[in-house]
Amino acid sequence: MNSAPAAAEPAARINLLDLDRPGLEGFFREIGEKPFRAGQVLQWIHQRGVGDFDAMTNLSKALREALRERAVIRPPEVVLAQQSADGTRKWLMQVDPTNRIETVFIPEPGRGTLCISSQAGCALACSFCSTARQGYSRNLSVAEIVGQLWVARRELGDQGRITNVVLMGMGEPLLNFDAVVAATHLMMDDFAYGLSKRRVTLSTSGIVPALDRLGEVTEVSLAVSLHAPNDELRNELVPVNRKYPLRELIEACKRYVGRENRRKVTFEYVMLDGVNDTPAHARALVRLLSHVPSKVNLIPFNPFPNTDYRCSTPEAIERFTQILHQAGLIATRRKTRGGDIDAACGQLVGEVRARSRSHLRLHPAGP
Ligand code: SAH
Repeated sequence: MNSAPAAAEPAARINLLDLDRPGLEGFFREIGEKPFRAGQVLQWIHQRGVGDFDAMTNLSKALREALRERAVIRPPEVVLAQQSADGTRKWLMQVDPTNRIETVFIPEPGRGTLCISSQAGCALACSFCSTARQGYSRNLSVAEIVGQLWVARRELGDQGRITNVVLMGMGEPLLNFDAVVAATHLMMDDFAYGLSKRRVTLSTSGIVPALDRLGEVTEVSLAVSLHAPNDELRNELVPVNRKYPLRELIEACKRYVGRENRRKVTFEYVMLDGVNDTPAHARALVRLLSHVPSKVNLIPFNPFPNTDYRCSTPEAIERFTQILHQAGLIATRRKTRGGDIDAACGQLVGEVRARSRSHLRLHPAGP
C-alpha cells in the first residue's frame, strides 16, 4: 500500500464539519459517489462523534481511503476548560493562530443548554457587553460553529447531555448569515443532531433585512436583544438601532412569527440600574410589545472590568416584572450562571485579534 499517491496537502482537504447535508451530498457527487453517503457520514460525525474515517465501518475501504485523501474532520481545538461551582462549563477554543472563542454549557434539571459563538469578537459595540470591548475579528466558519457542539459533546461525555443550543455567545449571528444558517440546519437535521426548532435559538440585536431572510430559510426560535423600550435609549445601548430602529425591528419580529405559526419571540432585556429599569420603562415596554406574540427574558446585568453599569436592584427587577405580568406579558428572569468563571451573558471574550475596534462607551449617560 505504500505505492498510494501522496496525500493532498491538509490545507487542500475539505473539512467535512463545514458541510450540511446538501453540501455533503454535493461533495459525494463530485467524487463519483452516491449522495446517500451524506446521511451515513453525517451520522458518524455528528451523532457518534467520530473524527476518524477508519471508524466508519459501513463505508467501503476504498471510500474511506478516498475520504482520507480529500477530506478531514477538524474541529476547533480546546485550549482551556473551566468548570463553575454551579456546574456551568466553559471552553476556550482556538480557531486560528490569532483567534480564540468561547463556548458555554449550562446544566439544569432535565436539560442542558450549549451557548455557542458565531463570530470571533463582535462589531456591534453594545455599551454593556464585554465582547464588544475587544472589537471584531472575523466570521466563524460552519465547522467552527457546529464544531463547538461537536467538541462540547466529546468533552462532556456522559457528564452532560446537550438538549438545547442557543446562538448567544460571541458575535452577531445574523452578520454571519450563511454559515449560521448551515450550522442550524445541521443542528436540526435528523442525520446530525436532530434538535427540534424549539431547542435551537438564535439571538440577534436586530439586523432587520437578515431577519426577514432568516424567516425564509430556517425555523429556528428567535430571541431579540431589546434592552430598551424607546429609540433614544436603545441607540445608546445597542447602537445598531440607529440603522434599524424599533418600529422596523418590531415589524420584522411580527413577520417572523407570522410565518407558519411560529411561537413567540423572546425579547431579552438586560437590567441596568437607573438606566432602563424604571416603572416608566416597563410600561413603555408593554406598549411596544402589545401587538407581537412575545415573552420577555429579564437578564441581570453581569459586570466586567471597567464598566460603569451596575445591575438593577432586586426590588427594581421585581417591580419591573410585576408591571409586565399585570399587563399579561410572560416575563421570566434569567438566572445568572457561571459568573465565577466569566461564563455569564456578555462576559465572553475569548481572545481575538481585532481588525476593527468598537467605539468604547464607558459612561452610560455620557455623550
Ligand atoms: N449579538 C447577539 C448574540 C449575543 S446574545 C445579540 O445581541 O443577541 C448575548 C445576550 O447577552 C444578548 O442579549 C446581550 O445583549 C446580553 N448581554 C450582553 N452583555 C451583557 C451583560 N454584561 N450582562 C447581561 N447580559 C448581557
